[in-house]
Amino acid sequence: MSARPFIVAIDGPAGAGKSSASRALAARLAFALVDTGAIYRTVALAASRQGIGFDEDARLGPLLPTLSIRFAPPAEPGGAQQVFLGGEDVSAAIRTPPMSLGASAVSARPVVRAGLLGLQRRLAASPENRGAVLEGRDIGTVVFPDADLKVFLTATEDCRARRRFLELQGKGDPSTYEQVLEEQRRRDKNDSEREAAPLRPAADARIFDSSGVPLAEVVEQLAREVEATLRARGGGR
Ligand code: C5P
Repeated sequence: MSARPFIVAIDGPAGAGKSSASRALAARLAFALVDTGAIYRTVALAASRQGIGFDEDARLGPLLPTLSIRFAPPAEPGGAQQVFLGGEDVSAAIRTPPMSLGASAVSARPVVRAGLLGLQRRLAASPENRGAVLEGRDIGTVVFPDADLKVFLTATEDCRARRRFLELQGKGDPSTYEQVLEEQRRRDKNDSEREAAPLRPAADARIFDSSGVPLAEVVEQLAREVEATLRARGGGR
């Protein structure tokens, strides 16, 4: 019996299907879901609204403790969680292409990463959670290096860009496929080459290429693995 809830870490590059897989897995297991990318996006949104540059460490540091970032259940069953900044629903405002790049920029600042560690751990390890699924870039390497299950979900560049393009198109975003691919390349480059918590699989992560496997299959496999481990531990934690 471990001291904290069961932690599933799902890391990987943009567009690999982490959000859909994490959402389905958390729902199936009745685990909490912590979308850490949404937290970085919300910081980028708050900074841009206050005229703070994404590299202005001296102002980003003091901004963090003033922000109240929380998640609420989806507005419609099966939908995405809602993200609140104070009393404002920022779920849509944080998902625009400029905020994708903004999140990638602020997340390269060590002051921001360090400032958000506690929040990510608290949201996941809250005692009322039976378990938590966290999705991000450094969950298995930095946030929960002792996670119970670590997954690195990836897919080919074209497959990831196509998914993201269709998703943005569905929301009425005018970006072309080429623009989406370009933004993705910039983010992948920023995220993998930065010094602070670069995107890379943890040594003990299971690597899944979702371009070859239907996401439902990945989720099924992971859910069975978690359930078997929970049973072996005695049903609870
Ligand atoms: O996952 P999502 O695309 O919403 O993340 C937005 C950006 O936030 C990523 O491109 C990455 O730069 C950053 N991020 C991070 N570490 C995490 C989650 C997201 O650096 N754990």
